[in-house]
Amino acid sequence: MKFDAVSNVFDLLQFGEFGDVNPSITDSATYTFMQAKTMTETFEGTAEGCFLYSRHWNPSNKFLADALAAMEGTESAWVTGSGMGAITCTILQICKSGDHIISSRTIYGGAFAFMQNWLPKYNIEVTFVDPTNLDEVKAAIKPNTKMIYTETMTNPLLQISDIPALASIADNNGIKLVVDNTFTPLMVAPAQLGAHIVVYSLTKFINGKNDCVGGAICAPAEFINALSNVNDGTAMLLGPVLDPLRSSSILKNLHTLHIRMQKHSQNAMYLAERFRENNLTFLYPGMSDHQGHTVLKKMMNPDFGFGGMIAIDLKTAEKASAFMELMENKGVGYLAVSLGYFKTLFSNSGKSTSSEVPEEEQQKMGLSAGLVRFSMGLDHDIERTWQKIKSCLVELKII
Ligand code: PLP
Repeated sequence: MKFDAVSNVFDLLQFGEFGDVNPSITDSATYTFMQAKTMTETFEGTAEGCFLYSRHWNPSNKFLADALAAMEGTESAWVTGSGMGAITCTILQICKSGDHIISSRTIYGGAFAFMQNWLPKYNIEVTFVDPTNLDEVKAAIKPNTKMIYTETMTNPLLQISDIPALASIADNNGIKLVVDNTFTPLMVAPAQLGAHIVVYSLTKFINGKNDCVGGAICAPAEFINALSNVNDGTAMLLGPVLDPLRSSSILKNLHTLHIRMQKHSQNAMYLAERFRENNLTFLYPGMSDHQGHTVLKKMMNPDFGFGGMIAIDLKTAEKASAFMELMENKGVGYLAVSLGYFKTLFSNSGKSTSSEVPEEEQQKMGLSAGLVRFSMGLDHDIERTWQKIKSCLVELKII
């Protein structure tokens, strides 16, 4: 039977204390026990259904975590105060001093900076590779390698990772494949394709409102239990907990994700076709000549299209700046980082979300100084938006 992430979320029956259609928000840091023995058992992890302290677990966070686990088809999940909280806790739960990680070179700049600048302080070594070059991935494996880390659709080059192929390399070497699926929720279900752990920035498409940051780790129960262990669990001890009020609002937004993803994708595809007609240089995985098109088609649920991210290459940072300022001025959207918002957002990746990546690495990954990344909004009349974009391109003599 086809894996149906949306129905999995909709089939969950999550009620509030009084039969409320939205689960009640648990606005408490601590929890009472009627018997001291139950408190001891909860600390030992043997008491079922008890909460001890909200950095450990909070019922509102559990509702959201359960919905995300259902969406990914993993046994369990944990929610964090940011996507970086999810990424860093996952890495530090798996790796210790002396270990080695193989990571895609094209990943979100903050994740890159963590691996490049922070992990070496704790003697964890990272080799950056092109995730689409499976021979390069295999060649990078060392006896102390613990993890392959990639993004399903990489930021900002929109390369596509072949998750089944990477999972098979990981399995053959007894290591974990960790996949950041932030750009492609519902479109791709990495855990169904062999990924061991799936991480998210909930800040983006999943929440979709740009009103908070949040993150999630979807994984087998054993991993989530280890993360939240009171004695040595990374999430429990580093403490990047999500606020329950935010969990509650993100859970409500999760229930419209499928409709939003369809619209983001439709709008991006429409623009890609116009860009092609006008001979622009751009990246969109929905185009048959995109490097990862065939791999994505093999992995994706076609109900949700090819995603809302599209990037146009104007070659120089100066041209990119002029284009973005003009687009903001004409009401195309906002010159802002981040993605998955109902308004279109655009930024020059090399100067913003990938600015942590040194220029030499930017060149190695093929990141052009003039790359403008768009997160397409939910525009009702996308032709109207295209006309605005076109007028900017004409005014700057790009077309
Ligand atoms: N993963 C990806 C692909 C991202 O684009 C981002 C942020 O831009 C993150 C993770 C980090 O998420 P957060 O900002 O919620 O910490």
